[in-house]
Amino acid sequence: MKKSSTTRKRKTRSERSRITDQCATLLQRLVRLKAADHQGFCKCVTCGVKKHFTEMHGAHYIERTKSATKLVEENIHPSCQYCNMIGDKYHRSVKRAYEKYMIDTYGEEFVEHLNAESKKVKKIGIVELREMLADLKEKVKEQEKQIESLRPTKENEY
Ligand SMILES: [Zn+2]
Repeated sequence: MKKSSTTRKRKTRSERSRITDQCATLLQRLVRLKAADHQGFCKCVTCGVKKHFTEMHGAHYIERTKSATKLVEENIHPSCQYCNMIGDKYHRSVKRAYEKYMIDTYGEEFVEHLNAESKKVKKIGIVELREMLADLKEKVKEQEKQIESLRPTKENEY
């Protein structure tokens, strides 16, 4: 018996947002893994505190809600939970520290470019998104091998 395909269009749309979120989550894990030492510790880019990467966040410089820069690796860096959750919203000093980190790391021109990009409407195709997801999974797996004491983690812990 054939299955009905009436829900296909709706499925495609939700698949896009689901994969986009999965990619963002993997990227947020990847940047922490890349920044981590062999014990799995990395530094918060805004306050400098050093913690295990599983206790850190992958913080977007330009907020995650801006779709055009949501999946740009250079827009995401390790941040402690305080700076990411509270600091970013309520304390200008955290925002300024992140901006300084961005300019010191990538240069003023790149930060301006990123800001301009974030205002654009950009849609990544579903095929490209699927490829990106597979690629990110592979990269995360590779980086995880660099960390000695890595426990197996569940997907929802990202
Ligand atoms: Zn911090």
